[in-house]
Amino acid sequence: MTPTHGNACVRASMNAIVARAPKAHTVLLSLLLAACGSPAATVRTDPAPSPLPEPRYERPAADRPRAYVAPGASLTIPVMGIRPEQLRDSYEDPRGGARLHHAIDIMAPAGSPVVAAADGSILKLRTGGNGGITIYQIAPDGRTLYYYAHLQRYAAGMREGLPIQRGQVIAYVGDTGNAGAGNYHLHFSVGRLTDPRRWWESENTNPYPLLAGDYARARVATGGR
Ligand SMILES: [Zn+2]
Repeated sequence: MTPTHGNACVRASMNAIVARAPKAHTVLLSLLLAACGSPAATVRTDPAPSPLPEPRYERPAADRPRAYVAPGASLTIPVMGIRPEQLRDSYEDPRGGARLHHAIDIMAPAGSPVVAAADGSILKLRTGGNGGITIYQIAPDGRTLYYYAHLQRYAAGMREGLPIQRGQVIAYVGDTGNAGAGNYHLHFSVGRLTDPRRWWESENTNPYPLLAGDYARARVATGGR
């Protein structure tokens, strides 16, 4: 998405809304804004942000790694032990030719537990190709898709159709597929299926602001990367 997309999208939404009956305004606005996504480049924040609150732990436990949820984020960071300030926005990084990355790469030690970023169920478990060992997770809405790639292995008991909960360990970080030997990271994307039967095709949105929340907004405000 370009930096101007968000504003144009909102303008288009408002124009669409004034043509509708007043009763439908709220629902329609939510739907349109949801469809517009939340590109980090359009976020406006106070130029002198106050200190950020600490991220909370998804699974409080003293004796094991934790998955973090950043303040203001809608998704759990899907690798245990990775904090929001360790995330880097790589959504628009080039990936050969005209292709863009359209995902986030979360660098982490081999074998780090990968957790579900949200509730849903396992749609597909696939091995081979550029993603290597992968998980396709579908949200309860039947449209939102979470994709986890370059996995080392699945967690015990994973099977297609299995309901999974946010924060649940589903796999472990690896370097399978085209990650490059020793380049251990989780490739994670968030998309929306245009046709629920074509699970391999999705319109992706940038997962970085969804994972980093207020930390992403603070970076935009300070111009940091
Ligand atoms: Zn990637």
